Amino acid sequence: MKRKIVIVGSGFSSLSAASYLAQKDFEVHVYEKNQTLGGRARQLKKDGFTFDMGPSWYWMPDVFESFYNDFEKTTKDFYQLERLDPGYQVVFGENESIAIGDSLEKIYTVFENEEKGSSKKLKRFIELAKENYEIAIQNLVYRPGISPLELVTPVTIKKIKYFLSNIKRDVYKDFKSPKLRQILQFPVLFLGAKPSNTPSFYNFMNFADFGLGTWHPENGMYSIVLAMVALGESLGVHFHTDTAVEKITVDASGKANGIVVNGEAITADIVLSGADYHHSEKLLDPKYRVYSESYWDKKVFAPSSLLFYIGLNQKVKNVSHHTLFFDVDFDLHAQAIYDQPEWPENPLFYANFPSMSDPTMAPKGKEACFLLIPIAPGIEDTSELREHYLNLVLDRMEKLTEQPIKEQMLFCESFCVNDFIEDYNSYKGNAYGLANTLLQTAFLRPKLKSKKVKNLYFTGQLTVPGPGVPPALISGKLVADLISASTSD
Ligand SMILES: Cc1cc2nc3c(=O)[nH]c(=O)nc-3n(C[C@H](O)[C@H](O)[C@H](O)COP(=O)(O)OP(=O)(O)OC[C@H]3O[C@@H](n4cnc5c(N)ncnc54)[C@H](O)[C@@H]3O)c2cc1C
Repeated sequence: MKRKIVIVGSGFSSLSAASYLAQKDFEVHVYEKNQTLGGRARQLKKDGFTFDMGPSWYWMPDVFESFYNDFEKTTKDFYQLERLDPGYQVVFGENESIAIGDSLEKIYTVFENEEKGSSKKLKRFIELAKENYEIAIQNLVYRPGISPLELVTPVTIKKIKYFLSNIKRDVYKDFKSPKLRQILQFPVLFLGAKPSNTPSFYNFMNFADFGLGTWHPENGMYSIVLAMVALGESLGVHFHTDTAVEKITVDASGKANGIVVNGEAITADIVLSGADYHHSEKLLDPKYRVYSESYWDKKVFAPSSLLFYIGLNQKVKNVSHHTLFFDVDFDLHAQAIYDQPEWPENPLFYANFPSMSDPTMAPKGKEACFLLIPIAPGIEDTSELREHYLNLVLDRMEKLTEQPIKEQMLFCESFCVNDFIEDYNSYKGNAYGLANTLLQTAFLRPKLKSKKVKNLYFTGQLTVPGPGVPPALISGKLVADLISASTSD
């Protein structure tokens, strides 16, 4: 008889684990509290506009391809991918911006124009980043974080010094232009911490950025969710939406034996949770929780976000599909996220206009606009604050890109800390999990397997390897392998 596994939540890590476990011949049931699958990667459709509500940058296409290949499929079986050119644009002031093209040659030229001699340095920087990317993919990220020894291989041992320095120091050493410094520090923001608190080794994200490029799946990131659900269904995974898990049950011998939904007990041989780790442990009686409130409180969390989804009545100019507004002090904003959590006075922000490259995402002649302001998790969230920051960033965008935007708004929906908590049971309303700092890397992160309850496992952005869609796919694979290894004992 097949062993039955229930999975809490349907984020990318749960979807990934579900397919791997079904492939390993488990009976798999996924329970999601929301009406749609995919976790934070939800889609908003309104008046002919389509928005990705969460992730919008498709990086590391090799990780997606390798996921599909594990099921004898390829990305093309599910969606069309386009490499964006420019990958993104960074705005530094009025009529002052840098576009990051779709090849290293184009990027070297842009660097050289900005700072004489910098293209040579960038070449060296990217060679090292590429080497680290290959080591990370081959030797590090596909490890379950059980023991520090997993990280010790003949190649990684030579890299030890890159864990003792940080990205900011390296970038400042080689590049003088404040603009180039900001561009080179941007990719590590995906890891959730300040560049000064992120080990140099993580410069592999710079290779992901410049070397592997920024891609767009037709119809947006939600296409990945549809692909993974279709794959899961083809393997026999059962999906249950609109079904919040109220409790994880444990038998007298200390073994997880099921969940409670709508007051009803559902039995299982194994329980896996891909909901936020902190919330998942709260579904257990207190004696079965491994990590205390003070443990979570001391951790460095990735930012939360204030998000706006705006339908614009006409096309916009002087921006790109992905546009970063880095026209204010980067360090001051970072301090307001990490050091003294408060609303930043003058925030950096990110604007996404997917309909610039994908006509399916807005009605003809109109533009879909998604704005993201990174903020500290757990800070106050009110409608007045949302309104204030909407006006602030729109005023700046109008001035910097020299066009009226506010008067073109057909509608504007927002999403912030309170929604992250309400919709996803997110700890303090974090948007993308537990940051990857030195002390929160690999075996130092919350574990995939409970130390107190047998047959209970965790996956997702608060465990290994960390935040982001590609790591979520990897997290699902890691936990599926762990489950399959321990049940075959
Ligand atoms: C605004 C934003 C922008 C981002 N941008 C990018 C990007 O551009 N590129 C990138 O790679 N990554 C990005 N990320 C990060 C990426 O989206 C996440 O790391 C990834 O989607 C997390 O997946 P996960 O599997 O950990 O679970 P989640 O997506 O967190 O899913 C967990 C699921 O569990 C459900 N759940 C919670 N409690 C229960 C319960 N009791 N019962 C049932 N279900 C429950 C939740 O509803 C949710 O659906 C972004 C994230 C956000 C929020």
